[in-house]
Amino acid sequence: MELLQQKVKEDGVVIDGGILKVDSFLNHQIDAKLMHEIGKTFYETYKDENVTKILTIEASGIAPAIMAALHFDVPCLFAKKAQPSTLTEEVYQTDIHSYTKNKTNHVIISKKFLNENDRVLIIDDFLANGEAALGLYDLVDQAGASCAGVGIVVEKSFQKGYQRLIDKGLSVTSLCRIASLDNNQVTLVGE
Ligand code: 5GP
Repeated sequence: MELLQQKVKEDGVVIDGGILKVDSFLNHQIDAKLMHEIGKTFYETYKDENVTKILTIEASGIAPAIMAALHFDVPCLFAKKAQPSTLTEEVYQTDIHSYTKNKTNHVIISKKFLNENDRVLIIDDFLANGEAALGLYDLVDQAGASCAGVGIVVEKSFQKGYQRLIDKGLSVTSLCRIASLDNNQVTLVGE
């Protein structure tokens, strides 16, 4: 996606530890038109896969995921990082280590929203070591649902996440692939 790649290059700020800050259009302020295009691109890629549900994790995955859900005309479900008192029913749960916050989150989804008849497209904002996507896949697996693939907005291709997902047999579609953040410089794959 050329527009996304351009935005990542122009607005992305590299911070310590190989983390890219994209606050101006994805992680804080959100560019709705760009998210709409992102959702459409995921739809074009997986439209023949009989997707019944989009699954992401709060908070930053929700914007691209809801736009994908709009195009597929299916619900968007997001895994919660804490069990609210209002969620009293049975849940699927897994632990996901956050790369940026260096913290392990216990994440949950209600059993009533995912079952063996579902075909799930997992969406997230970033792919680094693959912890978030693999945790979401674990929830899909626990529900006995199938996974159509994993849609990623920004993949940091110099980390091991992509390979870990491929090793699980998952289809991965990343709209912007970063080869390196060395010297505080964003270099895309193929540049
Ligand atoms: P992973 O679980 O693949 O190791 O890391 C992906 C998760 O960590 C995403 O959900 C994303 O929120 C966060 N993340 C990882 N690397 C970055 C980064 O460079 N920038 C931002 N903004 N988030 C990141």
